[in-house]
Amino acid sequence: MTDWNPKTLAVHGGTRRSQYGEVSEAIFLTQGFVYDSAEQAEARFQEAGPDEFIYARYGNPTVRMFEDRIAALDGTEDAFATASGMAAVNGALMAIAGSGDHIVAARALFGSSLTILLDIMGRFGVEVTLVDGTDLGAWRQAVRPGTRAVFFETVSNPTLEVIDIAAVAEIAHAQGALVIVDNVFGTPVGPNVADMGADVVIYSSTKHIDGQGRCLGGVVLGSREFIRQTLEPYMKHTGGALSPFNAWVMLKGLETLDLRVQAAAASAQKIAEALEGHPKLSRTLFPGLANHPDRAIVDRQMAHGGTVIALDLAGGKPAAFAFLNALTIPVISNNLGDAKSIVTHPATTTHQRLPDDQKAILGITPGLVRVSVGLEDTDDLITDFRAALDAVPAG
Ligand SMILES: *Cc1c(COP(=O)(O)O)cnc(C)c1O
Repeated sequence: MTDWNPKTLAVHGGTRRSQYGEVSEAIFLTQGFVYDSAEQAEARFQEAGPDEFIYARYGNPTVRMFEDRIAALDGTEDAFATASGMAAVNGALMAIAGSGDHIVAARALFGSSLTILLDIMGRFGVEVTLVDGTDLGAWRQAVRPGTRAVFFETVSNPTLEVIDIAAVAEIAHAQGALVIVDNVFGTPVGPNVADMGADVVIYSSTKHIDGQGRCLGGVVLGSREFIRQTLEPYMKHTGGALSPFNAWVMLKGLETLDLRVQAAAASAQKIAEALEGHPKLSRTLFPGLANHPDRAIVDRQMAHGGTVIALDLAGGKPAAFAFLNALTIPVISNNLGDAKSIVTHPATTTHQRLPDDQKAILGITPGLVRVSVGLEDTDDLITDFRAALDAVPAG
């Protein structure tokens, strides 16, 4: 298994067959496990072997298959699956930090991640410094001896800045800080972010890994020592475990992840190229476009431009709303990485509560629309996007 390529690992990695020899992985929909004897229970509570389980909050065979498969695929030693992407972010941050610790994070973060860092961790005496994630000088200035960790999204939401993982990791590691990345927008398809210096990699598996908008889930990946000694003790007692049913959906999702992400990313590339320069748009943000400000980093650390495009309508909020309401194929919602194309107006939904000056700093303008490209026919999508843009009343 060790010399298999990612596509093979995504189909076979982590498989555990029961005595029935099932082809498709079994769903162990059980909260607990019985012991042959009191002595066996005692021994298992002392130390559980790799195929021994105690309670589904600690681990479950179906969940374990998902963890082993994504760890194999992502090239990390181990993984812990969580009830949602936010349980993964919360777990990774809360498991490492204590009162008096310092964390440096990129300011362009998923809203709930900002809430954890600024509101929740602040209550426990953790000091957090936010920086412009694309500014290496700012990272250098903020990271100091004793900084416990740095945290950033490899590709930021919703303005799609791409952060230089290796360069930030070098700055962090020089001061002994752990590098924790949220790679949701980067997706697990592409070069290995752990190889670039990320010590801990987080995914909301609600996004591309499920890929059909059915289940919440998340996962934290890292060294065996980090996952088992640092993260697991926090997770298993605080209850953010992934349900076995959701783990099974995610496990099956991994089998087709590469095909789905490659198809959506190829489609997103064509759509971004087709819409760029449309008179109703002031900006088309997409990592795959030649003029993306972080072009060289994209080439180094991504296999594709991703599956999300940000379109900034020159006519502001009224134009953005007219555009959303005129689309016939994409649905207005706030998930991403789904088979269905999804359009979102961040300023009034996902980032509604952010003060206007913060929105401005992050580039979340009133006209910005986030497009998560799905698996529909690319030409149908281009036709629909063009017609909806054409229907937007002129300035
Ligand atoms: C969706 C998302 C999360 C949170 O994941 P949930 O599964 O919704 O809890 C965290 N980070 C990023 C970048 C996301 O897109």
